[in-house]
Amino acid sequence: MRLEFFLEMNMILPSTVQLAVLKFSKSSQEDDPKDKCVMCGKETPYPKSTHIDFRDYYVEGCGQLCGDCWNKTDSRA
Ligand SMILES: [Zn+2]
Repeated sequence: MRLEFFLEMNMILPSTVQLAVLKFSKSSQEDDPKDKCVMCGKETPYPKSTHIDFRDYYVEGCGQLCGDCWNKTDSRA
């Protein structure tokens, strides 16, 4: 499901934009505080600048989850 979404984004976004996003998120990693899990507050591997399309465990309209909380919420589906 996520892969399909990613491929769809690949068709929408010009590759130059994607490269810019990747470069930006890479170079600003040190200054950028990591996003915290919205459910338990645990730090996730993703800096705030990381675009949500490049993250795992991100719920649109909710926020970033850690792997544990993701597994909990995923059971509803
Ligand atoms: Zn969590």
